[in-house]
Amino acid sequence: MVVSVEPSRAGAVLTVDLGAVRANYRQLAGMSAATCAAVMKADAYGLGMAQVAPALASEGCRVFFTAHLDEGIRLRPLLPADCTIYVLHGPPPGTAHDCFQHGVVPVLNDPAQLQEWRALAATLGRELPAAIQLDSGMSRMGISPADLAALSAGRDWLAGVRPRLVMSHLACADEPHHPMNDAQRGRFDSLRALFPGVPASLANSSGIFLAPAYHYDLLRPGAALYGINPQPGAPNPLRQAVSLHARIVQVRTVRDGDVVGYGAHHVVAGERRIATVAVGYADGWLRSLSGRGYAFVDGVKVPVVGRVSMDSMGLDVTGIAPERVAPGCEVELMGVSHPIDDVAALAGTIGYEVLTRLGSRFNRRYL
Ligand SMILES: *Cc1c(COP(=O)(O)O)cnc(C)c1O
Repeated sequence: MVVSVEPSRAGAVLTVDLGAVRANYRQLAGMSAATCAAVMKADAYGLGMAQVAPALASEGCRVFFTAHLDEGIRLRPLLPADCTIYVLHGPPPGTAHDCFQHGVVPVLNDPAQLQEWRALAATLGRELPAAIQLDSGMSRMGISPADLAALSAGRDWLAGVRPRLVMSHLACADEPHHPMNDAQRGRFDSLRALFPGVPASLANSSGIFLAPAYHYDLLRPGAALYGINPQPGAPNPLRQAVSLHARIVQVRTVRDGDVVGYGAHHVVAGERRIATVAVGYADGWLRSLSGRGYAFVDGVKVPVVGRVSMDSMGLDVTGIAPERVAPGCEVELMGVSHPIDDVAALAGTIGYEVLTRLGSRFNRRYL
């Protein structure tokens, strides 16, 4: 990925490689006979739904998921009319009509959501499509086995609702040997027996890599589309889709015993050169990277020194040619040299959190 050093008024530049997102979609879709959807929640994990969604639609993706109803409503005009948008959290109380009016399909997660959707269908005098989520053991979202048993004991319990998808979510898909995976799959199979002939979906990104038995009819990747490794610990088969570059504001020489940054925690040993770059925790560059993170200058690793401030941080650039680290030069914070998952590990978190925290403060470039 070539990033030009052009004058910019922003402190940092987030580059989103839509070609990589599209290639990741093709790769995931190619792993299975199932249909491949795309998860768009949190503004496509921070990459920008307005750019990512149409790019994936042009790759042939026809099924999309958001978390919230307002995300689904914002996504609707970005996609061709034949695309389905499922809202994972379902309609918040009192919003069933909004959901219907905007042409998004709710995921019904409990008896109350089912009841609201049925009531709307009765009012409109028509059948309404929905996805049904079943709780196969994660205890987060979805109709519990007990509620399902009670509901399905009633007559015409789905009257007015046309289930287009029955789904559940795995708690431990990124741990291939965890017994929860098999247990959840078994529970999902027994619960979904109440929905004969309805397409099923269980696998998020990591679930796709577990085994074909987890694929069912529809794959629901988010993270892997955006370059996060679905199999932590194994080589990442997907392409990095995001890179982050920050601009150097100032460079100084410090001497033995000088301190760098808030708290005066970093004490310099010997003479060093410190570059101050214009990115900080307010941009989503996590404060937990203080004294632990790295940046890259022409592929050379340089450490973050001292605490990450709100809008800036220090890098020890001793030994890098001065013309490479002058004010205005860009350093790479994340990208091909420094994958998201490595940054996340140094920050003590996961790639998902790193991606979704990256701020709207950046200048964004789409490739
Ligand atoms: C977020 C989410 C996904 C996507 O998960 P990834 O791990 O990002 O692939 C799929 N299904 C549900 C229900 C989700 O909440």
